[in-house]
Amino acid sequence: MHKKRGLLIVLSGPSGVGKGTVRKELFTQPNTNYEYSVSMTTRNPREGEVDGADYFFKSRDEFEQLIKEGGLLEYAEYVGNYYGTPLDYVNATLDAGRDVFLEIEVVGAAQVRKQVPDGLFIFLAPPSLSALEDRLIGRGTESADIIKSRVMKAREELEMMNLYDYVVENDEVQNACDRINAIVTAEHCRRERVEKIYKQMLKGDY
Ligand code: 5GP
Repeated sequence: MHKKRGLLIVLSGPSGVGKGTVRKELFTQPNTNYEYSVSMTTRNPREGEVDGADYFFKSRDEFEQLIKEGGLLEYAEYVGNYYGTPLDYVNATLDAGRDVFLEIEVVGAAQVRKQVPDGLFIFLAPPSLSALEDRLIGRGTESADIIKSRVMKAREELEMMNLYDYVVENDEVQNACDRINAIVTAEHCRRERVEKIYKQMLKGDY
């Protein structure tokens, strides 16, 4: 029986848009069919974050070693820290026929687009820039300086929307999750993704 390779789903968008919240909500839903790839980072854990579940927390030396070894599918330096996606986990999961879900910023997403052109790239957009700033302040985890640099970054990031296949507005977390699930379902039916299977079927391979 033919086994389909999993779909690489990339959720990206400006800091503070609610990517983390949307991703967590997606993974609490019982019907989620994809696996979350836990990222590596050199930033310090926030209150309540768990090593291995939220991130793999690494030193700069460890992270730079991984870069040298080619152990990352992509990585980026974001507001003074490294963030990256472990390559082995992604490949093994896709090979096993399961979809992998990445939640990453835009520089990393652009690298994935080059490496995995048949990935599914979804941009999570804020209803407005002021809503974005309010959310960053409301989170209460960053200093005023960091918030300022993250909002400036968000403006640049919004302009990178054109690298993506779909744009999902995060007006309400549940709405955003419903749209993402609908997009993933539709992508699995896209002709380019399934025609190979039918061609093999017609050749009598299975
Ligand atoms: P935070 O520090 O708020 O957890 O994350 C900062 C930014 O880094 C967010 O936009 C988040 O999506 C992004 N990020 C998390 N993991 C990765 C990763 O593996 N690679 C890249 N490029 N960005 C990531």
